Amino acid sequence: MDHPRNRLAPLRNDSKLRRETFQNGWPPEKNFLSIDELVNQGFYFLGPGNGDRVQCVYCAGILSNWEPNDNILTEHKRNFPQCPMMKSPCKFAAYRDLSTRKSSFTGWPPQMRQKPDDLAEAGLFYLGQGDKAKCFWCGGMLSEWEANDIPIVEHAKSFPQCQWLVASKGKEFVERIQQHVQQGTPLQNVSTDQTVASASSLAHAASPVSSAQLEAVLMGFDQLTVSEAMKTLGEKSFQKVFIEF
Ligand SMILES: [Zn+2]
Ligand SMILES: [Zn+2]
Repeated sequence: MDHPRNRLAPLRNDSKLRRETFQNGWPPEKNFLSIDELVNQGFYFLGPGNGDRVQCVYCAGILSNWEPNDNILTEHKRNFPQCPMMKSPCKFAAYRDLSTRKSSFTGWPPQMRQKPDDLAEAGLFYLGQGDKAKCFWCGGMLSEWEANDIPIVEHAKSFPQCQWLVASKGKEFVERIQQHVQQGTPLQNVSTDQTVASASSLAHAASPVSSAQLEAVLMGFDQLTVSEAMKTLGEKSFQKVFIEF
């Protein structure tokens, strides 16, 4: 079964896509809710036949049965306190869409081994100066890239507290990268961890790592067991997610 985190990735990367879900079958009697606010907090509508059920693309939590006095933020926080969005909100919301981050890389030095697509998919936007890029969520800055650096791995090495990383790649991914950093183990010498080892060998390949290749490797991190998913998402949202999927 595909993890909800992967399944929700297209909607997480594109707020326009989330907004469009409300154009088909959203109950008109619920128009007291601000769709802007729902979309900004990461919600999309589950579609016709789902009443007023919306799901958050960051925590996968589902909310429904909205009443006129409900506050979206309060309900989100109360029901899903583990949501990354609730723990530390995004710092540069203008770059929350993948396409906007990609377009920021106009002028990125073409000789760099790290390519705009991979940088943008790692949550980064270009600051327009040298090789400086920033995470749209945690605001962490990365620069002085070395030839073999993989953007998503560098992000997790330097800013493990980034809640967007946890939402999009999983806690396990960030923890594994941190283990290697703390143990001082070079990623390419780890034989027990095939995923990290192969990510590293891709990075050492002669040609630049394509985002599709990298994604295929990183998917290896996403094979969470049910109990780990429960820990990550919290029991309540877990139950709701697995009813849904
Ligand atoms: Zn959430
Ligand atoms: Zn970050």
